[in-house]
Amino acid sequence: MERRYYQPEIETMPPEKLRELQSERLVKQVRHVYENVPYYRKKMEEKGVTPDDIKGLEDLPKLPFLSKADLRDAYPYGLLAKPLSDCVRIHSTSGTTGKRVVAFYTQHDIDLWEDCCARAITAAGGTKDDVVQVCYGYGLFTGGPGLNGGSHKVGSLTLPMSSGNTERQIQFMMDLGSTILCCTPSYAAYIGESLKERGYKPEDNKLKAGIFGAEPWTEEMRRDIEKSLGIKAYDIYGLTETSGPGVAFECEEQAGMHINEDHFIAEIIDPDTGEVLPEGSKGELVFTSITKEAFPLLRYRTRDICVLSRKKCSCGRTHVRMSKPMGRSDDMLIIRGVNVFPSQIETVLLNEGYTSNYQIEVDRVNNSDTLDIYVELPPEKFSDTVREISQKEKSLAAAITTMLGIKPVVHLAAPKSLTRSEGKAVRVVDRRKLV
Ligand code: ADP
Ligand code: ZN
Repeated sequence: MERRYYQPEIETMPPEKLRELQSERLVKQVRHVYENVPYYRKKMEEKGVTPDDIKGLEDLPKLPFLSKADLRDAYPYGLLAKPLSDCVRIHSTSGTTGKRVVAFYTQHDIDLWEDCCARAITAAGGTKDDVVQVCYGYGLFTGGPGLNGGSHKVGSLTLPMSSGNTERQIQFMMDLGSTILCCTPSYAAYIGESLKERGYKPEDNKLKAGIFGAEPWTEEMRRDIEKSLGIKAYDIYGLTETSGPGVAFECEEQAGMHINEDHFIAEIIDPDTGEVLPEGSKGELVFTSITKEAFPLLRYRTRDICVLSRKKCSCGRTHVRMSKPMGRSDDMLIIRGVNVFPSQIETVLLNEGYTSNYQIEVDRVNNSDTLDIYVELPPEKFSDTVREISQKEKSLAAAITTMLGIKPVVHLAAPKSLTRSEGKAVRVVDRRKLV
């Protein structure tokens, strides 16, 4: 099989050499942060650690964790490790789970970030002959600018579409022969649906691959998108705090995302105790950025729950792989005492032949939690008799009950009646928080 690397010497570096590189960079980074970020120095002092205690990777657990709350606390300049005059850009989180956080970049930081995105595009088969349509949002959101920069580095023809205006997306895709699509998986699903509505078959477009991320999506959704667009769909992961998309990306194996370990050290911890867990355990992903200058984070708790694997990958890359995040620790809903991840519901829906157009509504009535799931009927399942619909609702509710252990109320809605997302989809409305 053809080998697709953007920076082969780094991406296939022997594991021992990679560990050495990480150790070396970690030691330097800790000193940089300690000397330039009073907020961080204080946290280290509180834990009784100085840069002299950090001699290599094995000393990482000595460092304190940094949380999103710290970032909000230090907003806006408290974690800046370079003079503002050395910074050239800021980005900010989408604010999915609260107040936005801002991150700063030097030109060097932008450069390394774009390299990471270029690795992802190359792994998805991108070359200078490709036409890359970027319909992640541009602006403060990192999705658009990150993939845009990566695509430039690869030398592909880049279409900086940004999100929205689906009509224009489709027109450009068809007229200019886009070969790689970059957007959120929910928007990819919507584009697929819109193409079908306009009478296009999957083979009518020139797309060969999609690079989808920024929000959780299931394997079932991947298969749906691959079918509707006639492509191979690759996952990409990242967060603003660690630069943006491209922290990890899938190779042709499509079995976990390689974390760019020359830039990030990954750990999995028990979210309750903070204890570092052995390889293969499910837990919260923690990142230490060892090359970022302006906004380096040491042991940053992402709140994303996943598993790391060091199993050898047939693509030849040596960097550790992370599983798809199974939702954030704060995405998890506790309904009637039971832990529920939206991804579990999505899996059932797609297995039962429904689409990824759904919304989960949680409320509390008479001190008891209610779970309502609104699901769109695909056109081929749409029937007019109330009896048939109510039968379908019951059987879907039963399948979800088996998965979750609690019973939802399922409401089937007419095709196209739920709002589509052009960026990150809003899957959950939790009304309990409003009271
Ligand atoms: P916000 O926290 O406001 O959404 P970001 O836009 O920086 O800020 O989003 C980062 C988060 O998006 C990650 O922590 C993760 O929860 C989610 N995410 C990003 N990529 C993926 C992906 N491929 N699969 C699942 N979740 C993802
Ligand atoms: Zn691989």
